[in-house]
Amino acid sequence: MSENQEDQRPNVRIHPTAEVSPKAQIGAGTRVWHWVQIREGAVVGENCIIGKDVYIDFDVKVGKNVKIQNGSYLYHGLTVEDGVFIGPRAVFTNDVYPRSITPDGELKGNDDWEVGPILIKYGASIGTGAIIIPNVTVGKFALVAAGAVVTRSVPDYGLVVGVPARLVGYACKCGRKMAQKGEAYYCSHCDWSYNPKE
Ligand SMILES: [Zn+2]
Repeated sequence: MSENQEDQRPNVRIHPTAEVSPKAQIGAGTRVWHWVQIREGAVVGENCIIGKDVYIDFDVKVGKNVKIQNGSYLYHGLTVEDGVFIGPRAVFTNDVYPRSITPDGELKGNDDWEVGPILIKYGASIGTGAIIIPNVTVGKFALVAAGAVVTRSVPDYGLVVGVPARLVGYACKCGRKMAQKGEAYYCSHCDWSYNPKE
């Protein structure tokens, strides 16, 4: 970053080793740590923390109050709503038909691939090392366990684990797993219940 670019982003702290495109928007209060790359057209909201070695691809949208831990890769096609937590080394993929070459053996170009969008909704958490496959929505306050591979959409408050990720329960806004009571789920810590069928 040149000093001039720093001046255009008041209250944004960008470590000198980070490479942030002048065509990216970074919200006030956001901190960008060592060796981060943020590409052109990316939008990062206010008060985010972007950890060391994070990659944010072109046109990726990140809301406010988002924490992205070290080494996560956010590829083109991804939208992250406010308040999302992304653990270390999470990967958000985008290529629906991942091949280097066409059926004729020619190297694929920019027009030869199909982007599958990913949406991570308000307050959701993505565990360490999780991988999110294209064309997936992770619901509000959903919790994706460490190492999960998410191949299908996750409902609001859904708790998913494993490879491929499967729904094993529901998580409270506080992050704790809720106990099942009939059709509803209950958090004893918050004294709050949620019925996924309502
Ligand atoms: Zn709770």
